[in-house]
Amino acid sequence: MSTALNYVNGTWKASGSGQTKESSNPADLKQEVGFYQNSTAEDLDQTVQAAKEAKKGWSKLTGAERGAFLYKVADIMEQRIDDIATTASKEMGKTLAETRGETNRGIAILRYYAGEGLRKVGDVIPSTDADALMFTTRVPLGVVGVITPWNFPIAIPIWKTAPALIYGNTVVLKPASETALTCAKIIECFDEADLPKGVINFITGSGSVIGQGLAEHPDVNGITFTGSNSVGKEIGKQALSRGAKYQLEMGGKNPVIVAKDADLQLAVDATISGAFKSTGQKCTATSRVFVEAELYDEFKDLLLKKTAELKVGDPLSDSSWMGPCASKAQLDNCMYYINKGVEEGATLLTGGNKILSDEGFYVEPTIFECEDHSQTIAQEEVFGPVIALFKTASIEQSLELANDVEFGLSASIFTTNISSMLSFIKDMDAGLVRINAESAGVELQAPFGGMKQSSSHSREQGEAAKEFFTSIKTVFVK
Ligand code: NDP
Repeated sequence: MSTALNYVNGTWKASGSGQTKESSNPADLKQEVGFYQNSTAEDLDQTVQAAKEAKKGWSKLTGAERGAFLYKVADIMEQRIDDIATTASKEMGKTLAETRGETNRGIAILRYYAGEGLRKVGDVIPSTDADALMFTTRVPLGVVGVITPWNFPIAIPIWKTAPALIYGNTVVLKPASETALTCAKIIECFDEADLPKGVINFITGSGSVIGQGLAEHPDVNGITFTGSNSVGKEIGKQALSRGAKYQLEMGGKNPVIVAKDADLQLAVDATISGAFKSTGQKCTATSRVFVEAELYDEFKDLLLKKTAELKVGDPLSDSSWMGPCASKAQLDNCMYYINKGVEEGATLLTGGNKILSDEGFYVEPTIFECEDHSQTIAQEEVFGPVIALFKTASIEQSLELANDVEFGLSASIFTTNISSMLSFIKDMDAGLVRINAESAGVELQAPFGGMKQSSSHSREQGEAAKEFFTSIKTVFVK
């Protein structure tokens, strides 16, 4: 059984606490995946100091030189796809097909940002003084604290770390405890690529000690976080109070609107994929579906038929389409919302039960038919495979209900009508608006992030990452 160490100043290191914690397998209650360090505030301080000392040297390299390291990490990771993907599936229960896909995405992100080292970082702005040259350039923030969740244990650490590094920052990465071993496998690739000491550091331990400690640490200049709203908001307050830059990606309550003119098969398939892949544990997962009355019965019948065909089981088996919830806490949370749906009078059309309970934290794909949009399952993020299905009188009503939540991350419409597409693009309050495509998913070269309570209004990925990971300097030369 493996024990993941912290990675500090280019060296693998046990925590000074002498304590480890266990990482378990949500698909196999008898199996431990391994152990990780239960680090202390002192460990964290040493880690931050390593990143602080490395920042001057790293920021002096050219973008091309930093990019060369990222290309090397990508090549090493490519050799290890199976090992990384299997560890992730064991730690958090996503199917192997999905974790393999996620690892490939991580590799593509590394290569994208490696190339970013050669792209422009500023603009020349005409001065009103004929003898002056005015332009912008960008400088790194310094030390960036990266706090990541368990639901994309490979892609999210990389999509935060790669841009942080290419723009010249050094990194302290604190992964979700649930998937600490998966993240250690990624750090091994950075280690083998021989980045200068202290440029990337990795420390595991509880959110309240290491995560909070990072957010509060005076030598951490920027914090990027993905996870729950409650934790995100606290991190934002801590960063704000000491003048550090912060970026928060949090929850969603993502709608799908199905118009009467939609391609029925496409709409059903995309709804199922958006709602149930990764056991619904994506911030972009579909959780509310609004179908125009004319197509409602047909849509519902096909949705139920296809949902009944989904194979739930061992994420390591090729025949499984959906694995378990990532942990007991996630399963309990999901059951809480299912029970709430029943209590509040929604009609349970299918699912709603725990299954394979001797093996792991499995739950059935679940669909509720609802009338009242103020119900808890229509308003709060479930983060499990649960759909709230509504019949609506018109696209306008669907849009109004779709916007009637505190979140605004992702939203889809299925329609063949150009006017409906255009009103959706204009009026849907979401950072990602998707037409004839599922709510979950965004390409790595495009900005990712939400409106309302879903984010701190910043964007990740693609070129947008530059906005967070650098500061602009306006230069005036006379
Ligand atoms: P958290 O927000 O608790 O965890 C996300 C990350 O923050 C983890 O690395 C965690 O560490 C860390 N963390 C926890 N507490 C603190 C703290 N006080 N200060 C700083 N960092 C902290 O999410 P959970 O894993 O508990 O999931 C709970 C719910 O959050 C889910 O049901 C879902 O609704 C939502 N969520 C949303 C995600 C998204 O993609 N938007 C991703 C994950 C969760 P540790 O793991 O050690 O606790």
